[in-house]
Amino acid sequence: MAHEIYPLGLKIAGRLVVVVGGGPVAARRARALVEAGARVRVIAPDVCEELSVLAQVSPPGAVELVARAYRAGDLDEAWLVHTATGSPTVDQQVSDDAERARVFCVTAGDASVGSAWVPAVARTALTDDAEVTVAVTAGRDPRRATAIRDAVAAALQSGTLPLRRRRPRIGKVERVSDTRSTSATSAGAVERASGRVWLVGGGPGDTGLVTARGRSVLAQADVVVVDRLGPRALLRELSPDVEVIDVGKTSGNHPVPQDEINALLVQHALAGRDVVRLKGGDPYVFGRGGEELAACREAGIEVAVVPGVTSAVSVPAAAGIPVTHRGVARGFSVLTGHDGAAGVPGGADHTLVLLMGVTRLAETADALVTADRPADTPVALVEDGFGPRQRVTVGTLADIAERAAAVGVRPPAVIVVGDVVRLSPAWAQQAR
Ligand code: SAH
Repeated sequence: MAHEIYPLGLKIAGRLVVVVGGGPVAARRARALVEAGARVRVIAPDVCEELSVLAQVSPPGAVELVARAYRAGDLDEAWLVHTATGSPTVDQQVSDDAERARVFCVTAGDASVGSAWVPAVARTALTDDAEVTVAVTAGRDPRRATAIRDAVAAALQSGTLPLRRRRPRIGKVERVSDTRSTSATSAGAVERASGRVWLVGGGPGDTGLVTARGRSVLAQADVVVVDRLGPRALLRELSPDVEVIDVGKTSGNHPVPQDEINALLVQHALAGRDVVRLKGGDPYVFGRGGEELAACREAGIEVAVVPGVTSAVSVPAAAGIPVTHRGVARGFSVLTGHDGAAGVPGGADHTLVLLMGVTRLAETADALVTADRPADTPVALVEDGFGPRQRVTVGTLADIAERAAAVGVRPPAVIVVGDVVRLSPAWAQQAR
C-alpha cells in the first residue's frame, strides 16, 4: 500500500529556511523554526506585528526580514521553504521553484501544492532531559490531526503512558554542578551516571488530587518509595518491573526511620535509577521533604520537588470548611499539636489546622483554650479526607475530645479550630 507521505524528523538547527509571506501563518511557522534553531529568512513586502516582534526577540541572526516581494533565486542556499502568502499564484510559483531547486516546500494554503506537510505536534519533556515528540498528520484534514494531537498530548500529560527510560542514563558526570556537560568517552567506555530523585507531593490520597507533573514523573520512575498516606492506588498503574518500597507505618509495624529513607533514596540514585519519593500531601508540610532534599544534595544527587495538595487545606475543604473566609477568618496556621500553638494568633477568626493530632487531642484542646480563644470555639475533626472512611465530627474545644472518643475517631485526621467550622454542613446538621 502506498502512503502519501514519508514521516521524518529534521535537524534544522543552523540551516537556512525561507519563509515566504508575512502574515500570522508565516509568523507561526517562523516561530517554530526559530525554536528548532533554524536560521529563518522571511520574504514579504509587509510583515505582521507578530513577525516583527519575533525578529526583535530572537537571537541575533536567527530571523532576517527581507521587505519585498518574492522573486526567483530566493531559494538559493535554503534547505526548506514555507510559503504562506495568501496568493495561490505566488505559492504555486514558490512551489515550482522549490521543485526545480530540490528544496522541500510546505504551502499553507492548498495542500496539493508543495512537497512537504507540517504535522500537528505534541511534545513532552522527560525527566532524563529527553523529549517525546508525537507528530500527527491526517490526510488533508489538519483539524482532525490537531484533535488527535490534543488527545495524545493529554495522554502524555496524564502519566498513564509508558514514559520510562529504557536505556541506562549514560555519559554524564556524577556531579550536580556538571550535569549539563556530557563526559566524552573517547575510549568508547560508557559511564553509567547517577539517577535522579523527585520528591513528589501526592496530595491527600485521592488519585485525582496529584499534580500532572507528579503523575508524569511517577510514570518515569525506576523505583518508588512510598508512605502510608498519599495516592497509593497509583502504584497499581506502575509497570511490574518498577520497584516499590513501602516505608510507611502499618499497624503493628514501625515506619522506616528517616535516615534509612534518606539512605535508600541516595543508594538507588547512585545505582543509576530514577527514584520517586511519593509522599502524602505536600513534601514540605510536615513531610520531612527538606531533610530528604538535603541528603540527596549532600550525596551529589540531582533532586527536585514536585509540590502537592496539602491535607492541611484540602481535608478541611473535603468537609466543606474553607481555612480562610471573608469576614470569618483572615488567616490560618498549620501545627502538629499544642506545642506549636503558643506563638500563633489567638481568636476564633484565625483558623488553626492541626495535623497528627488525634492521639493527644484531649491535651491539645485543653492547651488551646486561651483568653481570646474560648472553650466554646468550634472544632471539626475530619478523618480520612477524600477516602472511603471520610467522616466529620464537630464540637468545641471543651467537648471535642469526648465526642471523638465516643465515635472512635482514628488517624489520619485533620483537626480544624475556629469559626470557619461553622460553615461546614456537619456543624449545621449538629445545630439542628
Ligand atoms: N505532608 C502531609 C502531612 C504529613 S503529616 C500534607 O501536606 O498533607 C500526616 C498527617 O496529615 C496525618 O496525621 C493527618 O493529620 C494528615 N493527613 C494526611 N492525609 C490525610 C487525609 N487524607 N485525611 C485526613 N488527614 C490526613
